[in-house]
Amino acid sequence: MLKVMNPATGALIQELAEDGPAQVAAKFQAACLAQKAWAAGPLERRLAVIQAFRGLIAARLETLARILSSEVGKPIRQSRNELNGLLGRLDFFLGAAAGALADETVFSDPTVVERIRREPLGVVANISAWNYPYFVSSNVAVPALLAGNAVLFKPSEYASLSGLAMTQALHDAGVPQDLFQVLLGGAATGAALLEQPLDGVFFTGSYATGQRIAQAAAGRMIKVQLELGGKDPVYVRADVDVRAAAAGLADGAFYNTGQSCCSVERLYVHASVYDAFVEAFVAEVKTYAQGDPMDEATYLGAITRPSHLDYLEHQVVDAVARGAKLLLGGKVLPGPGARFEATVLAHVDHSMELMREESFGPLIGIQKVADDAEAVALMNDTPYGLTAGVYTKDQAAAEAVLAQVNAGSAYWNCCDRVSPRLPWSGRGHSGMGVVLSNDGIQTFTRPKAWHLKQA
Ligand code: NAD
Repeated sequence: MLKVMNPATGALIQELAEDGPAQVAAKFQAACLAQKAWAAGPLERRLAVIQAFRGLIAARLETLARILSSEVGKPIRQSRNELNGLLGRLDFFLGAAAGALADETVFSDPTVVERIRREPLGVVANISAWNYPYFVSSNVAVPALLAGNAVLFKPSEYASLSGLAMTQALHDAGVPQDLFQVLLGGAATGAALLEQPLDGVFFTGSYATGQRIAQAAAGRMIKVQLELGGKDPVYVRADVDVRAAAAGLADGAFYNTGQSCCSVERLYVHASVYDAFVEAFVAEVKTYAQGDPMDEATYLGAITRPSHLDYLEHQVVDAVARGAKLLLGGKVLPGPGARFEATVLAHVDHSMELMREESFGPLIGIQKVADDAEAVALMNDTPYGLTAGVYTKDQAAAEAVLAQVNAGSAYWNCCDRVSPRLPWSGRGHSGMGVVLSNDGIQTFTRPKAWHLKQA
């Protein structure tokens, strides 16, 4: 049985039956049949169903937010923000799908017509993370369904109740039961899913698991997309409004208790404003209330995977042993529940794991840099490549820096931001493939090239 725990209290919420290999195989067979009928129907029907799903999410928003906060430990206001953000993403998909999926005639003359038609992949796996369960699973599920695919959805074992609630809403909206099915469980269930003859694998999670997924799919000639972790840097130039930059970047580092793939994880600050920035940053972080995720005032919630607490502490101990200055926090808070103090370290460098490996928690290192060139070199000194940002009044300087940074998203005077209109993609250890934007709809299709010649 799968135990659903409340990470903020350590209490058991519910036990759920896990899907073993036999259930996974049966669900795959049923999905294959359902997919053909779904794809044969008109896009209008699929759009109407997703429109109804949007209505149900809006109507159930408060209930869903409470379930999410209870099993993930996310502060309740941030759970509501995620669900409201989901409504915006659904609006994007509903508005963009017809254009992205339409037949495209790319050439015609009196003798020949050349046309691209986008056919669904078939049955795809959606293996998902827990930190933004509605975002990461709907980024795949919704465009995959709109494009005519069947989806076998394995939510994270740390967000099973939210996975079930999302599945229920899709079914209530009119998505056929066999077309979209949820598989409950952890790594073993995910591995059993990968043994099925899938037409595509869409994974969101860590680099370590992403490697296993890629290996399991290797040689099968199916589409594999991996949305993985990040070690996202931001460079603060000398000309900034220090207080405003510190406030924005503290939020970027600590929102969702630092458990975002695009959390700010490394800060590089120009030497001339370093001391003032660090002081303003620490003052801002001290205002963040840490406590019960159900309390409206709470900004910092639980560490969702309690086993991760040791790793957060390890990064702090390693950094301090190598000369970092601990300015705030640094310790696991006493239980019950899994919480870590908001932690800020200064005088850090790249000999420390804190500045090289994903922290995925409420801690950040702030390093002093001499100029743009040093900042670029340090920002690129990582195998990850998800997002990167620059804070400055000088747009040209920001764009010059960002053009040299190897990351899928570039931010000027903002951070920790995702737009459904723009492609979301990682490089290196941050993964491969695209979700969101028109590309993130078309990725659930295979183009067929039509050459139509008059006799
Ligand atoms: P994880 O890799 O531990 O688990 C992700 C999913 O993979 C879970 O559903 C898990 O059950 C499943 N899984 C584990 N082992 C498996 C196996 N051998 N075969 C098949 N499935 C398996 O990651 P997590 O802790 O859930 O999520 C945190 C990570 O996700 C962080 O690194 C974060 O940065 C990343 N993330 C990335 C994005 C993005 O868009 N790039 C978004 C959210 C989270």
